[in-house]
Amino acid sequence: MTTSRLNQLRLDALDPEQLRAATAPRGPVAIIAGAGTGKTRTITHRIAHLVSGGFVNPDHVLAVTFTTRAAAELRERLTMMGVARVQAKTFHAAARGQLRYFWPRIVGDTPWQLLDSKFPLVARACRAVGVATDKTTLSDLLGEIEWAKSSLIAPEDYPAHIVPDRRDCPVDPEQFVRIFEGYENSKVTSDGVYLDFDDLLQSMAGALEAEAGVADEFRSRYRTFVVDEYQDVTPLQQRLLDAWLGDRDDITVVGDANQTIYSFNGATPDHLLGFSTRYPEATTVRLFRDYRSTPQVVDLANKVIGRATGRAAGSRLQLEGQRPAGPAPEFTEYTDETAEATGVAEKIAALVAGGTPPSEIAVLYRINAQSAVIEYALDAAGISYQVKGGEGFFQRPEIRQGVNALAQAARRLRGRARADGTGAADESDGGAWSGGTAAGRPTPEQLVNQVRAALVPVGLTPTEPAGAQERARWQSLGALVDLAEELSTATPGLDMTDLLGLLRERAQSKNPPKVEGVTLASIHAAKGLEWDAVFLVGLVDGTVPIRHALKGSHAGDAVEEERRLLYVGLTRAREVLELSWSQARQPGGKATRRRTRFLDGLVPWEGSETDAGGSGAGKKVRGAPKNACAVCGARLTTPEQRILGRCDAHADDGDQVLVTELRSWRTALARERDVPAYVVMSDATLKAVALKAPTSAHELLRVPGIGPAKVEQFGEDILGIVKNYS
Ligand code: ATP
Ligand code: MG
Repeated sequence: MTTSRLNQLRLDALDPEQLRAATAPRGPVAIIAGAGTGKTRTITHRIAHLVSGGFVNPDHVLAVTFTTRAAAELRERLTMMGVARVQAKTFHAAARGQLRYFWPRIVGDTPWQLLDSKFPLVARACRAVGVATDKTTLSDLLGEIEWAKSSLIAPEDYPAHIVPDRRDCPVDPEQFVRIFEGYENSKVTSDGVYLDFDDLLQSMAGALEAEAGVADEFRSRYRTFVVDEYQDVTPLQQRLLDAWLGDRDDITVVGDANQTIYSFNGATPDHLLGFSTRYPEATTVRLFRDYRSTPQVVDLANKVIGRATGRAAGSRLQLEGQRPAGPAPEFTEYTDETAEATGVAEKIAALVAGGTPPSEIAVLYRINAQSAVIEYALDAAGISYQVKGGEGFFQRPEIRQGVNALAQAARRLRGRARADGTGAADESDGGAWSGGTAAGRPTPEQLVNQVRAALVPVGLTPTEPAGAQERARWQSLGALVDLAEELSTATPGLDMTDLLGLLRERAQSKNPPKVEGVTLASIHAAKGLEWDAVFLVGLVDGTVPIRHALKGSHAGDAVEEERRLLYVGLTRAREVLELSWSQARQPGGKATRRRTRFLDGLVPWEGSETDAGGSGAGKKVRGAPKNACAVCGARLTTPEQRILGRCDAHADDGDQVLVTELRSWRTALARERDVPAYVVMSDATLKAVALKAPTSAHELLRVPGIGPAKVEQFGEDILGIVKNYS
């Protein structure tokens, strides 16, 4: 295939704006784009275009992004497009590799290593200053140190920033200055120097700024730069980027200011928004066609962000959904968090029953603590899930052992290749300064077989073992094989060493593969990802926006960041989008909560009086006043009334003969199992069944108080009784 044909094929996949960005001549390019508009696609095509058109040498290109997951994805896509030699890294990984290479020239013989954990050093600095701390305060102190370093703020200047930058200093600011200084000093020891992540960037930028020899060599090596998610750049990262560039301007940036959700870490969209002022001759392209979500999802997202104020809002785009129409987003109010979690679990069960793979479903929340109740409800409903940022896949012991087994296999295979003379030079570590290549590559199938063989000694038996723990272990190892298969198919030509590098990268990014479960994640952790169905839960004021954003003189900015967070959450959904909140925390608790202000005026059923009938506690009554009897509108106060969605006067509207039938079935079953009758099913639930008279498992699931477990146990019985009776 000729270069021009390759080129043609690739560029066909772009819309006119994407094409303009991808084919702009070398020099400054800014792509200001909304969510789901194909930013990654556009920059990979731009790189491929520059390389395959002979405009740049692939070895001279450095693409950077913010997470190892995003970097790995960029690399995978570039490899698939035949431009594998381009470096795609996080800022940190890039700085680390560069520093490793240049360190002897900058510093000499003094050794350095990356600081494993900052905690002990900060704790020691606290003790030296006489500040007593617990683990939480230590984390907060560390957060402040990281913020200051990312924002290029020296210890002694920190106190002056507390008010204008809305910092929550966990200790007396003067003490903080001394802790910060103590921490910085303690990294220099007689054995060598410890560097934290921010030091990597700082040291490399400093070297490029101060040492002409280093700058010359670096700049002849890297000539073209691409930055994804540029709205998240911190002042420290920008300083490094400037040092990389020198007085050159071959830089492409891409970002969405309306997805800036890391301000508290020092990220600022100012560099993205100020790009064309800094480079007046820059090509600026705006992407507004949303290829990810249905027009229904896009419409709601547009409305939510349409009310934003402030600098970022000025750059917002009216997105145009490109996908076929889908269901309207659903809004559901629940009485309490437990009811909300149960309701969400039921809806997920219904989606899965309808054919949506669990891995294509996510539950997103504002803070990690919100996951517990959801986890519980999903467990109860027998739905598997994984918590992002929790005890992730790669933290599991069997996966650690599995990865070690693959590392041993990789060493064996390299040894064998060297003996045969088929291997290339040994790449001593994956994060090196420039990429290596090797000959004698296995096919994806061969690689997967090598992986299977390597995992047999750690428990990947040919057939599924007995015992819950054993089985879980076996399933995890199976997921590791699936992942290897996925990666090797996506990037043909990987060998075991490459695969291991990719696996380790994923492990570090704490991003487990989508095994088979539903994803639970904070909205922050969901950035850049997409699912067929997204549940946004806990949407109450005080959570979204988060309470602490409402305090202080800069609350306006903080609230805007919370609005953007909701926007990021909404735009993760391809088709199904469910938004929910609850009136009280606990079942039976006081209904004191207010739905998030960001949905004011956007909930379609609000204020109208049409009744969908018969739903109960934890269920949205479309069009009916909240928490009111579906017949007379009287306020419902007891949990039983809420399950039925009826006041006492209308509680027995269901057919009484059917209720009696159901009761006698329940009595017999309770006796047989030697449990109290309510353990089988509550009276209110029985009445609700009689009211709804379900004719399928799906309809039965919609009865309040009935989840997938109950359907599995009693579904046949209940549906039989209802059918017989009718
Ligand atoms: P985010 O703001 O969430 O990071 P993004 O702008 O980076 O989103 P991508 O992830 O690159 O968006 O693309 C979103 C989806 O749209 C992907 O599935 C991508 O393959 C698809 N897509 C992008 N451009 C096109 C196009 N021109 N034609 C068809 N599909 C496209
Ligand atoms: Mg993206």
